Order: sequence, then C-alpha cells, then structure tokens
Amino acid sequence: MNDVERIAIPTPFQIGRVNCYAITRGSLTLIDPGPLTDDAYTELTDSLEGLGYATEDVDRVLITHPHIDHFGLADRIRNESEATICAHRDAVDVLADPTANFEREQAFFRPYLASVGVPEQLLETVVTLPESYNRFREPVAVDRALAEGDEIVLDETTTLEAIHTPGHAPASVCFLDRERQSAFTGDHVMADISPNPLLTLEPGTTDQRTRSLPDYLAALERIATEDVTTGYGGHRDIIPDIPNRVEEIVAHHDERSDRVSGLLADHGPMTPYKLMTLEFPDLPATETFAGMSEIIGHLDVLEDASRVEKVERDEQSTYELIDA
Ligand SMILES: [Zn+2]
Ligand SMILES: [Zn+2]
Repeated sequence: MNDVERIAIPTPFQIGRVNCYAITRGSLTLIDPGPLTDDAYTELTDSLEGLGYATEDVDRVLITHPHIDHFGLADRIRNESEATICAHRDAVDVLADPTANFEREQAFFRPYLASVGVPEQLLETVVTLPESYNRFREPVAVDRALAEGDEIVLDETTTLEAIHTPGHAPASVCFLDRERQSAFTGDHVMADISPNPLLTLEPGTTDQRTRSLPDYLAALERIATEDVTTGYGGHRDIIPDIPNRVEEIVAHHDERSDRVSGLLADHGPMTPYKLMTLEFPDLPATETFAGMSEIIGHLDVLEDASRVEKVERDEQSTYELIDA
C-alpha cells in the first residue's frame, strides 16, 4: 500500500522520531506534520520531494492530537499551501494559543501536585521545566473542528472517519479507513510503546483535571471493537494487528494497577507522590509529571473499581485500600 507513506521525522524530544503519514490518494494529505524545527521541516520537504510533491501541494493536514511533536509545522505548511487544517474540536483552543493553555495548566497543577504530596523544592522544577518548550508552541488556527464520527473524504475510494480517543490527550482522534480496515492512531496505539496517560485540564475548564487513564482504557476498548487491523501509529513501526496490540497494552496496565494496589497493601495509606517514589525509585525530575500522571491514573482506575479510596489528611490527599 504505497499510497500511504510513513515519514519518520526527527524531533528534539526524548521520544525520538515522530511519524508523519503522507497519503497520496486524490490530493496530498498529511497526518501530523511534525515539530516546529528546521530539521523536521527539511526532512519532511525532502521526503515529499522524493514522492514527487512539494509543500505547496499539501491539500489538508490532519492533527491526531495537540502535542508539540505532532502539530508544530502545521501552520508553516498552511502558509505555503493553503492546506485545510483539521483537528478534534477540543484541540481548537489549545492550538489557537498553546502558551496560554500551558499557563492555565501550570496555574492548576502547581497547587494540585502539592496536594498529592510532591515536595515544594521539586514542585517548582516540575511546573516550570516545560517552559523551555514554549518556542515549539506556535499557534495554529484549525479550519475544520472534528467531532466523533466526522468524515474526511480524500477521494472516491477513501474516507477517513474521526474517532474520538481521549486519554493520552483529551483531544486525541484516530482516523479510520474502514474500506482498508486500517487506522491512523496517533499516540493512542503504537507498536511497542504505551503512551503516558498525561494529566491535563479537562477541556473548557480551568479547575478540573482529566481522569486520563480510565478515559484511555475506555477509548482503547472502543478502537479494539472497530473492524480495523493495520495501525499507523504516531511513533515507531506500523502496527500489524490493532486488537492484539490493545490487548497487550490493557494487560500492561492491569499489571501496574495490581502493583500499585500491592504497594498500598504492603506500606499502608500514602500520597500519590510517595507511591510514585516506590514504583519508580530513580525517576529524574524531568519525568516527575509523567510518573505522577501514571500513578494517579492507576489510583483513578482502582478508585473506579472501589479498590481504593481517597482520604484527605493534613491538606494532602492520601489513598488507602478498601478491604474487600
Ligand atoms: Zn502525544
Ligand atoms: Zn507523540
């Protein structure tokens, strides 16, 4: 199927390369153009040239989710091509002013992280570290805001259907090609890595966090019930069997939920931060937010299953096991 080309674009981030997909059916469609760096732009344009295209030829840009490794170049490509930019409707505000969005998150997560036990001296680092990414957050105006079930017609044989898959990001969408039983899955499903259920603000609010892992697991089940096999993920190789990969990811999370519950059984009630230091003993400060997202995600899952409860003590949230 060489009318879908995977272009692995370099990023300056720890994740390594990000996948941009060029679909050359009908006109030229790009899914996730990559980050806002000159290196990424050069590799993208070189690869397009190899396929016989220039950036002016891009007809539409689809964004799977508003993370800087995926959307950064969207505006630059639109300036050169007048391409139509499509993203989930919950991504519209985030992309319109990514820095303001980041500042809202900072304002919420500083006190929130303190309330779940992150020590004061670490808190400042955790909350301010991502400021160094501000230069990768140029605003992008979305031309077409997508909702669940919306269709993007590429040509007479190709329609992509947007499926809302919140979890890794609230505005995550997968694009299903039912005709070919395939899906462009962004960071929702990837071949050999499991995305972090990153905590973020619930779209449209300034005082409510997402329950990212329960949302993510529900959205995983959702895509596994679709009639799709091949997955074009946001990083790494193409996924040969989506339902099979979903099973592996769910098993991985079940195991970790059991481990978190086991830690509470062994050590008694504690804060999410304390749990994180036990589950990930040598985590660098740069990874604290991801680590906390993971632990709180599992506590949310255990809470939903009535296996743990949250107890407020001395202005801090601790969690304890509910006796079965
Ligand atoms: Zn992402
Ligand atoms: Zn990514």
